Amino acid sequence: MGNSMFNAICLGGAIAFGTALSAQDAAAQVKPAQTIRIAPADANPMLQRVASIFERQLRKRCDARFITEGDADFTLELAITPGPGRQGFEISNAPGGVRITGGDGLGLLYGVGKFLRSGRYDRGGFMPGAWRGIDAPEKEFRAIYFATHFHNFYHDAPVEEIEQYVEELALWGYNAVIVWFDMHHFNGFADPEAQKMVKRLRSILGAAKRVGMGVGLTLLANEGYANSPAELRITPPTQIKIRGMYGVELCPSKPGAKEVVLHNFEAVFGAFSDIGLDYLSIWPYDQGGCGCAKCRPWGCNGFLMMAQPVAELGKRMFPGIRIVLSTWLFDPVENEGEWEGLARAFEKRPEWVDYILADSHTTFPSYLLKNPAPGGLPLVNFPEISMWGMGPWGGYGANPLPQRFQALWDSAGCKLSGGFPYSEGIFEDINKAVYSQFYWRSGKKASETLREYASYEYSPDAADDVLRMIEILEKNHTRPSQDSGSQAAFDLAQKVDAGLTRQARTAWRWRILYLRALLDREHYARPDQKSDEARKALAELVEIYHAQNAEPPVRPPL
Ligand SMILES: [Zn+2]
Repeated sequence: MGNSMFNAICLGGAIAFGTALSAQDAAAQVKPAQTIRIAPADANPMLQRVASIFERQLRKRCDARFITEGDADFTLELAITPGPGRQGFEISNAPGGVRITGGDGLGLLYGVGKFLRSGRYDRGGFMPGAWRGIDAPEKEFRAIYFATHFHNFYHDAPVEEIEQYVEELALWGYNAVIVWFDMHHFNGFADPEAQKMVKRLRSILGAAKRVGMGVGLTLLANEGYANSPAELRITPPTQIKIRGMYGVELCPSKPGAKEVVLHNFEAVFGAFSDIGLDYLSIWPYDQGGCGCAKCRPWGCNGFLMMAQPVAELGKRMFPGIRIVLSTWLFDPVENEGEWEGLARAFEKRPEWVDYILADSHTTFPSYLLKNPAPGGLPLVNFPEISMWGMGPWGGYGANPLPQRFQALWDSAGCKLSGGFPYSEGIFEDINKAVYSQFYWRSGKKASETLREYASYEYSPDAADDVLRMIEILEKNHTRPSQDSGSQAAFDLAQKVDAGLTRQARTAWRWRILYLRALLDREHYARPDQKSDEARKALAELVEIYHAQNAEPPVRPPL
């Protein structure tokens, strides 16, 4: 393949869309439905689960009642047949309502998500949307990564809340959840704290599996527990200011270290054997790596010495598991030859790797804009949707960054088979929606997703104002000295607030956006002090995030 192909800028929509035949049919109901019936009520567990997810979403949004006998104003038929294809769906008219057919369980869930988002809930009942047609995802890899640390939302929220959140992300098209059992927090696998974490991670991954999603673990190739053998530990890699390091990782060039790492991973993987892992994502850095002479350059040397046996262990324990080899923070400042070295090592496509992960805190790695992926392997990204430009992360409420992500996607999206955004909490819910739709259909603009999100979560009538408000919030995201209209954004927030239903107005997805506008306004009006109003807003964010015990990086700064 010539280089010119890799120099090409990705143009949204340049990739063929395939099977979608979206027909905007004007069959929308004029009168809101007060009673709803879901059919057929057969015992297929996946149909039952999707039906209950639909019911829960509707109950949260309007006062329509669900009935099982007699005539309903609206009937929803759910079915799973191979027709719409893998993870695809069809929404069509049916007697007394609508029929949603999934090509499989996930496809059905995506169809229900699309149907829910096209409806409206603000006219005293449920008004089904007019979208009819067939759709299926373009990118195969559409995961979300939950960081479960620092007592953030995923670490401390009641597990049921996280389980429901997993379902809600599936409605947007995500098809896998990935977590990290971060060893350095614990003194070995038997540490009661380690066992507590295993339990929580099992709940989260179990919830994902129940709705048909895949699950996976991330790990550092040379990860170690807090009490790892001191004589086997690493030599700190260079550039540690940008590459995090705990110092308890093990050096695979020291005799015996590899065996300790593999032994540790065998126990961790075993804790998920009944759930079944679908992905292992093996990381070089941040934290991790070793800077000793035998391991350098880590990314194409020591890292591979360790990553390959870890991958093979995973493949032995979970046949069919897919290995995602991360290149995070390869050659971050000066060229250490990691990218070129990996390309040389993978001249023949390696059998133990299925995907290459590439991304960074700021922009997509320039190496891949000019060169093919090592080994010709499919690429996935790891968008940083949580931490960029706001500290504490989510500390001032929602952090929508649609323009930033549109630009990043335009630069690299066409090279990708999907990806998994890095999430520290629920404050980046809008960013998750944006990426879910990039993966679903690469030409779909962030602004289109924003409109869909705002119509669904707030009200179709509020969408224009919400989009204008988000445009200002993004300009003020890093709190530059020049205010780009914080008062105007807050005015819009108040206008929208006044028009919402009770359900939408009090839902966390609106509160965190409203509070962000309020806190920006307070910041620019009184830069050096916290008003009572600001303090109240921060306290409410703490409640919403369950951040009472959160550490400073993820705790609203009360
Ligand atoms: Zn080493």
